[in-house]
Amino acid sequence: MLATPITPLIDEKNLRHVRDLILQSSNILITTHVSPDGDALGSSLGLYHHLLKRGKKVRVMVPNSFPYFLKWMKGSENILIFEYNPEAGKHIIDEVDLIFCLDYNIPKRIGKMATHVQNAHAKRILIDHHPYPEKACDVVISHPEKSSTSELIFRLIDQLGEYESMNHATAECIYCGMMTDTGGFTYNSNDPEIFEIISLLLKKKIDKDAIYSNVYNNYSKDRFLLLGFTLLHRMKIYDELHSALIYLSKEDQNQFKYNKGDTEGFVNYPLSIKDIVFSTFIREDEDYIKISFRSQGNFACNEFASEFFNGGGHRNASGGEYYGTMKEVLEIFENGLQQYAQKLQSSKR
Ligand code: 5GP
Ligand code: MN
Repeated sequence: MLATPITPLIDEKNLRHVRDLILQSSNILITTHVSPDGDALGSSLGLYHHLLKRGKKVRVMVPNSFPYFLKWMKGSENILIFEYNPEAGKHIIDEVDLIFCLDYNIPKRIGKMATHVQNAHAKRILIDHHPYPEKACDVVISHPEKSSTSELIFRLIDQLGEYESMNHATAECIYCGMMTDTGGFTYNSNDPEIFEIISLLLKKKIDKDAIYSNVYNNYSKDRFLLLGFTLLHRMKIYDELHSALIYLSKEDQNQFKYNKGDTEGFVNYPLSIKDIVFSTFIREDEDYIKISFRSQGNFACNEFASEFFNGGGHRNASGGEYYGTMKEVLEIFENGLQQYAQKLQSSKR
């Protein structure tokens, strides 16, 4: 077995525990967070393909559906969507021996699956890069300093000594997760080992350019028009606070035949304006209002998310939700901005 040049990260005790739990289990479930993104699916499907090859019965279950531009990923057609059939979902959660909790730190992030996963008789392994992980799992591998959960899955496989046997599909999924959680390696990605890992993935013959195109150059015409509309008619810049807001009502989205995932990435655009350190996107969803925050530099947008919107996430990418009207949420947001005025004005990119 040839060693890769990647520095071991996961501690020996956890590694041994994961190895044993995988060995002892024949029926494995991989779970990830609501509105799964590239990293959620990349880490889950990456591990899925790897464990399948080891002859395990493996399934991936997510709380709700995922965007169309992630459907190219191999295995995505087999993903179980809990919301579509909760009874069948509960049954599977009850019958498995081992549950992986990937890319989420607390049960709340898997929505209606949470109580079932918490009460399952299966052992649980949490692998994640969000701060403040739930400690109740049997193994907790939490590295908030790392780019993505997909990177952690790579490191896990590597540390288990299984890089050589890693297959093409796993490599593709892991690359996708690392790419999407770093905005195509434009943030959170200064660790030189990220590029060593990419090099090792390329050796598995992944086509990284095609993966980029599949994710970022695959939108509908309507989505592009919705972006134009949003920037022109639904954007507010708070110059003195180095902040920007975009917001979309249900009606706005319907005008452009909204499809799940169409607004993915919108929140990043205002950060390309000079001196903006904080960008917020407020979007009316089916039965709640979804809020996304992004920041650049030392402004901790997860603090803002947790203080005003019961949310959380990373320092530079976080989110929250609100149950009420758009008018209320905009008011809370603007009051919040005023409270954070000093922090915003002194933030450095
Ligand atoms: P996004 O804006 O892409 O939905 O979410 C960005 C990041 O914020 C996610 O990776 C996740 O860490 C975090 N996040 C989003 N929504 C919520 C939420 O409602 N609660 C918490 N705790 N974190 C969230
Ligand atoms: Mn992630």
